[in-house]
Amino acid sequence: MASEFDIIRKYFTRAAPSAVLGVGDDCALVRPDPGMLLAVSTDMLIAGTHFFPDADPAKLGHKALAVNLSDLAAMGAGPRWATLAIALPKADEKWIADFAQGFFRLAARFEVELIGGDTTRGPLAVSITVMGEVPVELALKRDAALAGDDVWLSGATGEAALALAHLKGRVKLEGAALEACLTRLHTPEPRVDLGVRLRGLGRSAIDVSDGLLADLGHILEASRVGAELAWDKLPRARAIAECPDKALAENCLLAGGDDYELVFTASKLKRAQIEAVGRDLEIPLALVGAVVPGDPAVRLRDAKGKLVSSPRKGFDHFA
Ligand code: ADP
Ligand code: MG
Repeated sequence: MASEFDIIRKYFTRAAPSAVLGVGDDCALVRPDPGMLLAVSTDMLIAGTHFFPDADPAKLGHKALAVNLSDLAAMGAGPRWATLAIALPKADEKWIADFAQGFFRLAARFEVELIGGDTTRGPLAVSITVMGEVPVELALKRDAALAGDDVWLSGATGEAALALAHLKGRVKLEGAALEACLTRLHTPEPRVDLGVRLRGLGRSAIDVSDGLLADLGHILEASRVGAELAWDKLPRARAIAECPDKALAENCLLAGGDDYELVFTASKLKRAQIEAVGRDLEIPLALVGAVVPGDPAVRLRDAKGKLVSSPRKGFDHFA
């Protein structure tokens, strides 16, 4: 059977030309570019909590890295390096090879280098730390939203949560809608290029991992402002718009989570530039509301300006 060292050598050791030192020593050594801050983020995925224990390993490798890259994007940071801590119940080489393939395929797309990690036996879990760079002063922090800012959302929310509802038997999706939702759930696309392009355009940003309302709420709390969202302007993917269970679809849209879209605020003066970025990257960017003075709450208004009562909360990991 493969030893820990065989596994590291065979599956997790790749050239890391932009690092001073990669896998193989006590530490990796990296040198951020001059004028750049190092942006560091960790996300852990546990079997049975964040993914099904029988999850496709290639998709898991993709998703574990994608959710981390999403955090860098939400900071306006461009990814550079990653470390990978993985606990495996057994040394199933086919599983590890597939996991590594999913991980490295996404890593290659964004030129992320794996420079270290830890490999141990235990209940299946994956923890990745990503390191990226953002120019000093241009990080898109949560506490920078100002009353009067526009609120923008990339893509659309809700499909990943709808896929999960399908897998749990709470709704029955079919055909293209099912495919679209499963893709969103299992192989999310981190908005890396968008995050980098929002430097100097966006004022604050967050990625939607716990649900649109909950994550926007984090910006509002940090910035001590409120927000009003236009209910009719929230982008709805086809599967959400056509879902027979309206209450479920609405809940997924507002509070589903696992979307990895970016919600960000920006000065009204940046509208044309932001629209140009969306066209350039071919990412739909929707102007969904405004930052307002007052309590850190999100109010939804219909087309006539009437309040829509929908005080749904995002997924709370400890609820
Ligand atoms: P140590 O005993 O110093 O923690 P390890 O034996 O755990 O070292 O790891 C040896 C080398 O392999 C280190 O450079 C470590 O960063 C790297 N490494 C271990 N596991 C992984 C992994 N899953 N992915 C990438 N690098 C890894
Ligand atoms: Mg170790």
